[in-house]
Amino acid sequence: MTQLIKGETGEWEIVIGMEVHAQVIAKSKLFSGSSTEFGAAPNAQVSLVDAAMPGMLPVLNEYCVEQAVRTGLGLNAEVNLESVFERKNYFYPDLPQGYQISQFLRPIVGKGEIEIDLPGGEVKKIGITRLHLEQDAGKSLHDQHPTKSFVDLNRSGCALMEIVSEPDIRGAEEACAYLAKLRMILQYLGTCNGNMEEGSMRADVNVSVRKPGDKYGTRCEIKNVNSVKAVQMAIEYESRRQVEIIEDGGVIRQETRLWDPSKGETRSMRSKEEAHDYRYFPDPDLLPLVIESAWVKQIKETLPELPDEKKRRFMKDYSLPAYDAGVLIAERARADYFEEAAAGVDAKLTANWVINELLGVLNKNGRTLAESSIAAKQIGGLVALIADNTISGKIAKDVFAIMYETGKDPAAIVEEKGLKQVTDTGAIEKIVDEVLAENPKIVDDYKSGNQKVFGFLVGQVMKKSGGKVNPGVANELLKGKLL
Ligand code: ADP
Ligand code: MG
Repeated sequence: MTQLIKGETGEWEIVIGMEVHAQVIAKSKLFSGSSTEFGAAPNAQVSLVDAAMPGMLPVLNEYCVEQAVRTGLGLNAEVNLESVFERKNYFYPDLPQGYQISQFLRPIVGKGEIEIDLPGGEVKKIGITRLHLEQDAGKSLHDQHPTKSFVDLNRSGCALMEIVSEPDIRGAEEACAYLAKLRMILQYLGTCNGNMEEGSMRADVNVSVRKPGDKYGTRCEIKNVNSVKAVQMAIEYESRRQVEIIEDGGVIRQETRLWDPSKGETRSMRSKEEAHDYRYFPDPDLLPLVIESAWVKQIKETLPELPDEKKRRFMKDYSLPAYDAGVLIAERARADYFEEAAAGVDAKLTANWVINELLGVLNKNGRTLAESSIAAKQIGGLVALIADNTISGKIAKDVFAIMYETGKDPAAIVEEKGLKQVTDTGAIEKIVDEVLAENPKIVDDYKSGNQKVFGFLVGQVMKKSGGKVNPGVANELLKGKLL
């Protein structure tokens, strides 16, 4: 599924590795007890440690470590029982310490992998290089005053997981699939909410190009791309830019670039600094982090069923096609909803109603499943009414619309509105006779060989019965009478 770029000198391959920063779900910060709640007044959640007052000592938040371990396990990765926090030195107005506490040579999580789904049902493995824990920086505010900038340190010291991939990704489509899958796994695990608009998940995208079969080219890193759409556009722009430079006889300089969404282009921010520029060294305020394998095992036992596993189970246990299973497992709550709805009724039919009707109407009204007025059991109830021929699929759509409006049970709606399918053949026969008597010309047409008018007659029967006749039964009876 490799996406190639056509240049003047032939085809080019796009090579991508991603560094994703994911904010850890935890009540307090990585090295202090301050709250991490989003949306507080500026600087309302800043302890002396977060403000880097001289002499303050960081104290590691055990829960953040647990979240990192859980994530590592969810990424099928090695968990390192011994890891080291190091200082990454740089100056930035929103970084009062003058360094970020991060992990470098010995991260808490090592190699792992993620499976991504490509169009056409292909599955590809993307290697995970490492996951490490680090502190987030504060935020500079430049739009609050005409001549001054302000600093908000609420985010300073919040725990981040940096998840680094191998350069296994080929093209924008795979990059988006990778990001979507990673986000899904983190959300399932409950270790990051994956909210890119709020900045809880940000991606640095490393892009290079090469002729297929050549060794890797020089990469440029595009910083802080904060939506899936932006990742796609930035890769498309940047890879084409690199091809043009090389084909014009130029060389790519390794650098850090910024994506400008308003202009739709990347621009140079700074030449790439090397690791030694940061003067990493083990933080003398923190001992090496040693965890026990029994603890890791205990965390492993509490892992939820993850998306890939759930998808396989849905396909197997409910005999669902891959597409349906993929849509249903995209969110954990959605998958749970489906399972509750499908209990004891036809699973494929339930999947159709959840995917096409329920998700369709929720999407149209900008609502989430949690805000749905229809409970899972009620969808199951509707499916049961269709399956036992109490109502037709067509009437079911009307019932569904009323359920959505009122939140009432489908059986109650059917009862109240008298929507039960007519199964009494005597009554149906009467309607059929009426239709035939009212349409002598059409009947003649049919008898002289015009098969096409048959559908019209069925339609008339349906109409006369208010849609309450089973179309199959109407068909049979009509055929019989027209012989
Ligand atoms: P740094 O912190 O300097 O950016 P890292 O090793 O943390 O370096 O991250 C490097 C990222 O760049 C990884 O995701 C890796 O897969 C990716 N990468 C490395 N070489 C290439 C390349 N030639 N083309 C594209 N991506 C690359
Ligand atoms: Mg980087």
